Amino acid sequence: MIAAPTTATATYLGAATVLLHIGDVALLTDPALDAPEVPQEFRVPGTAMRIPLQRRWPAALPNGGLPHLDAVLLSHDQHADNFDTAGRLLASRADLVLTTPSGAARLGGNARPLVTWQSWVIERGSTRVRVTATPARHGPEEMGGLAGDVTGFVVEAEGLDRALYISGDTVLCDELAEVGRRFVVGPALLHLGRARFEATGATTFSLSAGDGSTLADLVGATAVLPVHYEDWGHFTETREEADRALRAAGTPTVWMTPGRAVDLRFLGLVRREPGNRSSA
Ligand SMILES: [Zn+2]
Repeated sequence: MIAAPTTATATYLGAATVLLHIGDVALLTDPALDAPEVPQEFRVPGTAMRIPLQRRWPAALPNGGLPHLDAVLLSHDQHADNFDTAGRLLASRADLVLTTPSGAARLGGNARPLVTWQSWVIERGSTRVRVTATPARHGPEEMGGLAGDVTGFVVEAEGLDRALYISGDTVLCDELAEVGRRFVVGPALLHLGRARFEATGATTFSLSAGDGSTLADLVGATAVLPVHYEDWGHFTETREEADRALRAAGTPTVWMTPGRAVDLRFLGLVRREPGNRSSA
């Protein structure tokens, strides 16, 4: 029988990698787990150009390691800071990888494409979770397909009033407001870092903290949990700077300690009590 999950936690592993436990369902976002010594690069599509990427410190695995994963939620497969060699191996062992249509075509195997607003239902034990793909744009429109396709996600669980929002690598764009119109959002994992590269100057490929505050307001998030900041060389906004901007905007923010579980129910992902629907 499907029941409201009595637990809902997020454990930050670094980069954009987060282990989510919602009732009996285990999900992992953007697995990037290679050691910093492993050389990484971004091959610019349609050119011979390669941009080296440098991880600053290793991922933090939770005590006891990772559980069997019901699904990997992969915002995009083409960038090493979201998906690397160790992440690929891990994803291949998960029941399912949910990602962009172009990414699913590249990955094959257990990868399933989700077009924007398409959903996938995952059931395990007494928990039923619905994952929906949300819009994301990995850079300014005039840069076209330079950074490639990316998706965000909304994770809803039967019996929970609010949904968890995962932005994916995106810049602020009008389409994101639709997330707030379609879902009652609780906590939001936002990919910050203000990603920039020498070759593209001041062009930004992920959210700054200021953009993150605006996005949190747009979707009606109850709290922001920053991910995708500081651990890679191309993330140009420090945690300190980001924290200042989020505070200045009055955005409720929870900085997750890598390797430690954060209880999402206290951040607005509350359990629905019979006859008490307004408590959310
Ligand atoms: Zn990316």
